[in-house]
Amino acid sequence: MYPPVQLHIDGDWRASRSGKTLDVLNPATGEVNGTVAHAGTADLDDALAAAQKGFETWRRVSAYDRSRIMRKAADILRTRVDAIGRIMTLEQGKPLVEAKGETAFSADIIEWFAEEARRAYGRVVPPRTDNVQQLVIKEPVGPVAAFTPWNFPINQANRKICGALAAGCSIIVKGPEETPGSVAAYVQCWLDAGLPPGVVNLVFGVPAEISEYLIPHPVIRKISFTGSTVVGKHLAALAGRHMKRVTMELGGHAPSMVFDDANLDTAAAVLAANKFRNAGQVCVAPTRFLVQDGVHDAFVEKLVARAKKLKVGNGLEDGVTMGPLANPRRIPAMEGLIADAVAKGAEIATGGKRIGNVGNFFEPTVLTGMTTAMRAMNEEPFGPVALVSRFSSIDEVIAEANRLDYGLAAYAYTASHKTVTTLSTRVEVGMLSINHHGIALPEVPFGGIKDSGYGSEGGSEAIEAYLNTKLVTQAAI
Ligand code: NAD
Repeated sequence: MYPPVQLHIDGDWRASRSGKTLDVLNPATGEVNGTVAHAGTADLDDALAAAQKGFETWRRVSAYDRSRIMRKAADILRTRVDAIGRIMTLEQGKPLVEAKGETAFSADIIEWFAEEARRAYGRVVPPRTDNVQQLVIKEPVGPVAAFTPWNFPINQANRKICGALAAGCSIIVKGPEETPGSVAAYVQCWLDAGLPPGVVNLVFGVPAEISEYLIPHPVIRKISFTGSTVVGKHLAALAGRHMKRVTMELGGHAPSMVFDDANLDTAAAVLAANKFRNAGQVCVAPTRFLVQDGVHDAFVEKLVARAKKLKVGNGLEDGVTMGPLANPRRIPAMEGLIADAVAKGAEIATGGKRIGNVGNFFEPTVLTGMTTAMRAMNEEPFGPVALVSRFSSIDEVIAEANRLDYGLAAYAYTASHKTVTTLSTRVEVGMLSINHHGIALPEVPFGGIKDSGYGSEGGSEAIEAYLNTKLVTQAAI
């Protein structure tokens, strides 16, 4: 069911040179699934040499052929959705249907980037004299070091791999040690599609040791990280000291605004589904539910009803709609935020506790009466906890939406065109979704501003991040 996970370097799967491994746990049972190899610096040197070689190969492959190999990888991934989804649920905990959905959606993303690979156009700039030609050329930035987290084991690695490969770059991915099996099975699809050795390399180990080694290394020309803001700032500073290009996809604390004129059934259904998906461990999950006075009680009733309907359990079991938290440290994190909120006057409308003592299960939770003095309203909850507070005016809710340093996603439900226009211009986020959940599609930009990072992992911007711009200006003599 769960094969030992190895490093992938220069086209080969292999143990680390030290032979060191780490256990991979099943978050639903606490049992050991298997092991993952731990890379040391000797392995990283191998990966760097492979990435350098892979870059020299891949940059010379035509965009047409890169696109062809990418589309083949997508086709292969689609045939393995069931098997890979099962591995993902075993190690990450999310319900099988979500794990399979993530895998299938990753194939869509590959396909979209494969199409874009053929359209990484430069341009011709009109010259000032008629014997001059000014060309703007796009070139791959070079070998990439990417650091990806455990909440969407495949999707997070996939977006970075797709951007890099579409542009002609090679990549070393430091995958998530908690959930390595599904990423490894996904990387195998690239190999089976005919990707040359060294173009995609996959390592696991001690995250800080790997980032400290790879980011300053002269082979690496670009860094991409998804994870918490505190780690992102540390890595961005390190990259800055070595003048490396950076994409940072960091934390968020999404304001989810429900106005008096909203369709409450839609708002409750869509926000609840996205709040509790992946047990709330999603950077763009709705977190601060800001509800206008006139509909507060009715909305809370609908939200609580949705939370109560969820079936929490082992993601491999039929009918389960919310799995465990992915790792044990998220349980005390949830308990701490809830205890602090209750001590400061919040009420638990539903949930609030760990379920049982086997696995990392937590009740889908709705807290009301939230105030800005509470930790949960300031720190990214990253768990199945909806925080509800009231507002009266649009100015008040915009001030609350913009109060934090985060600026990733925001949501709003309203029937007013005027409200939509005001929110569109004044809410400080990278993504604003109104009256539906419309973010994270391959073709639209995905990324934040302020402390939520910079750069995009979707849309044509996501390829631009892996390209250098070169001017070639020539005079006819
Ligand atoms: P964490 O800060 O310890 O780790 C977050 C991620 O960063 C992990 O994947 C980890 O391997 C990696 N990481 C940590 N230190 C690193 C370093 N020095 N170099 C390279 N990578 C490093 O937190 P956690 O307990 O794993 O997760 C909880 C918090 O992380 C959440 O509150 C959330 O803010 C954030 N997170 C965000 C995302 C996202 O999609 N943006 C995903 C996972 C976690």
